[in-house]
Order: sequence, then C-alpha cells, then structure tokens
Amino acid sequence: METNYEGKDKKGMILRLERSSIYDGDGFRTVVFLKGCPLRCSWCSTPESQNFQMEETETKTYGQEMTVEQVLKEIRKDIPFYFHSGGGLSVSGGEMLCQPEFSRCLLQQARKEGIDTAIETTLFAPWKTVEPILGHVRTVFADLKFMDSDLHKKYCGVDNRLILNNFLRTNDCSTQFDLIVRIPVIPGVNDSKEELNRMGDFCAQLTHLDHVQLLPYHRLGSDTYRKLGRPYELEGLLSPSVEHMETCRAVIGQYVSKVI
Ligand code: SF4
Repeated sequence: METNYEGKDKKGMILRLERSSIYDGDGFRTVVFLKGCPLRCSWCSTPESQNFQMEETETKTYGQEMTVEQVLKEIRKDIPFYFHSGGGLSVSGGEMLCQPEFSRCLLQQARKEGIDTAIETTLFAPWKTVEPILGHVRTVFADLKFMDSDLHKKYCGVDNRLILNNFLRTNDCSTQFDLIVRIPVIPGVNDSKEELNRMGDFCAQLTHLDHVQLLPYHRLGSDTYRKLGRPYELEGLLSPSVEHMETCRAVIGQYVSKVI
C-alpha cells in the first residue's frame, strides 16, 4: 500500500462514519458523512449536517476533524466485508462537494486501493468542482428535488439552475459511472403531476442514468431540530401512502425504464 499519496494529511470536517448502510451504494458500505451543505431543504432529516462548523447540544457534539488517511484507516478495516458483498466507500453529506479537495483525495486513494466508490450529492457546485470528483467514482447518487426554480428556492433555499445544468453536463463526461437520480416525494410540495412529468422527461435526457429512485418523505430528524433549537418547517406533514408512491413511480416510469 502507498504510504505517501496526494492529500493524505488533508483535513475534513466529518459528521460521522456509518457502517453497513444498504441505501448508499451496492453491498456493505462504509458511509462517510461530511459536514456542510449550501441547501436548506425544509424536510432535511440531518439538520446537524448543514453547518460546516462543529455544533454542540447538551448531550452531543456534531463534527470531528479527520485527515484523509485517518478516514481511510477506518475504511480499510471493512475491506473483507466489501469483498464478499460488492460494497465499498460512499461519501455523503451534508453536501460532499462543499469539501471538494478532501472528497477528491479520499475517493482517488480509495480507488487506487481497489475500493469501490460512490457519492451522494446535490450537484450544487460549479462544474469545475464537480467534474474532477466524477473521475473517481463508480456510482453517483444525485438528488432531483424540483424542476421549478421558484419552488426549489422556496423549499431548499437556493436556485436549482446550477444543479440542472450540472446534471446535463454529466452527459459529456467520458468517465464511466452509473447515475442514480433520487427524487424525494414530499406530499403537496413537489409531487404534482406537472412536476413529476417534468422530472421524468428530464431524467430521460441523462445518458449516464442507471435508474431513478423515489424516496418517500419521512419525519426522521425532527427531534434533532428541537435539540439544535431550530424550527421544523414541515410540522404536521404526513408521509405519502404506498399507493401514492406507486402513482408517482408510474408517472416517472413513462419516461425511464427503471424506477424503484
Ligand atoms: S441537500 Fe441534503 S443535507 Fe442538504 S439540506 Fe437538503 S436534505 Fe439536508
């Protein structure tokens, strides 16, 4: 194993490392959640990941500085599990593109060591930040929350044009990666027939697309808002029914061959 490599001592602000997640890529995953996110989604289930700085409540500290090598040391412990399950490293957030050099060096070295890599991202960053990362990943999970810019700004705090442009620019990438588009279904917010049709039509234009995942809204994280002393804006909103999720899948399924 290389003892000296690019970015080995680069520091990142880590929210937590989680093992055996089944949602963040194939097989057994070690998920590195980074702190910091430029969005403020009203339904965010990890408000403790949004601020880049360390945060403390009465009972918990959120955030810890670690170097690339310190994180990789933890990841290497899980290599035997990756081997049998086809798993690997997933870098998530917050928004992992907020710490681009740390993320790139971590992913690059993991790949060099033969570890499978995936990222979870909003794609909310300049293309010159996004592109170098894509060269080091096998799977990209990217969120598509709205097509409508005004709604995106209202519910996520930022305009979505940068995100939509970045999605389309992945079409020009010659590197090999599978793109999985994740659409959170937030009842009464982004699940109108019109929005769903626009999202389906948009996904059909993405050449790296493997499939689309629809994720039902849930209230996980609302307790953390209380602990952090922040209001939870979607108080009282219920999760979508199984039937409603099927209806949404059927709309998107008119445009793309695989929707789960
Ligand atoms: S992009 Fe993700 S981490 Fe950032 S605010 Fe939205 S849900 Fe939370």
